[in-house]
Amino acid sequence: MESALLPWQNQQWHRLLQQRQSDRVAHAYLLVGERGLGKKLFARQAAALLLCKEGEGELACGRCRSCQLLASNSNPDLLTVEPEDSKVIKIDQVRQLADFASKTSHSNSRKVVILHNTEALNLNAANALLKTLEEPPGSTVLLLVSDNPGRLLPTLRSRCQRILFTVPSLETAGDWLRDKAASEEDLQEALSLAGNRPLLALELLTSEDRQARNTVLKALAAMLEGRVDPVEFAATGKTLGVEKIMEWLCQTTSQVLKLWLCDEPPAVSNRELSRIYSLLTSSSRSDDEVLSRLMSISRTMDEARQQVAGVSNPNPQLVLESILWRWSRLAS
Ligand SMILES: [Zn+2]
Repeated sequence: MESALLPWQNQQWHRLLQQRQSDRVAHAYLLVGERGLGKKLFARQAAALLLCKEGEGELACGRCRSCQLLASNSNPDLLTVEPEDSKVIKIDQVRQLADFASKTSHSNSRKVVILHNTEALNLNAANALLKTLEEPPGSTVLLLVSDNPGRLLPTLRSRCQRILFTVPSLETAGDWLRDKAASEEDLQEALSLAGNRPLLALELLTSEDRQARNTVLKALAAMLEGRVDPVEFAATGKTLGVEKIMEWLCQTTSQVLKLWLCDEPPAVSNRELSRIYSLLTSSSRSDDEVLSRLMSISRTMDEARQQVAGVSNPNPQLVLESILWRWSRLAS
């Protein structure tokens, strides 16, 4: 059934395990931390543990009726809610959640709700959820997952027990990822780009993502050389997807920034990235000016990504173009 625990989640897991053993499981948990740390997997494993009929092991047993139903995604005591196409969790979904929570469990024990991307609750839905949190039905445990808890209502945050996930050390992340990478060089590069977030690094190692990233890096270098203009570059957004491009731009910006801040920058294994870096170092702008521009782009980037991911943004292509335009003026 569920795979082994992710090695950087031991502490969080043992806290939950202890609470289960001493019968002090909370009504609601808020799983927070950056994207790429395996919070969703943790939530699923926690749901399995809380629903498992076998009370002994450190993980769900994988054999009991509840575990088997869970493995085939048909356990009636688990409800998973996530944003639909609209990227928003709507009030109807929360009503369904409340309804699920108020009914008795099929196996006369617990029920679990996993709510992914909790920050995607619209205001009405958040207020409706608050009601369920204020009067928690006895046997239901809510696992709310969020990359961006700052966007949640404070009253909602305060009614949950927080489980924080942090970025593991390079060593821990590397050990976990090593047999999934073709070479040590690929591994180090992926981890560096992903800021040591192991699941994000794993995404980067998949061919489709690598290709997308190289397309973006190439286009970025060509743009700095004046061979491609921002509008042409942004047009690639139609095939790769604006969000994907924004993600890579964000990663690249923070990687270049890191190199820029090193007294003796390490060798860069990716050819395109190395080209971008050298184009910037040989630009007519002063080092300080490039730095302050990079930092300003980096600050705008987070905001822009939220806009692109949000529902209210009328034109993601335009947001992308404005960021690219600023990038294009970095070197000249
Ligand atoms: Zn079990």
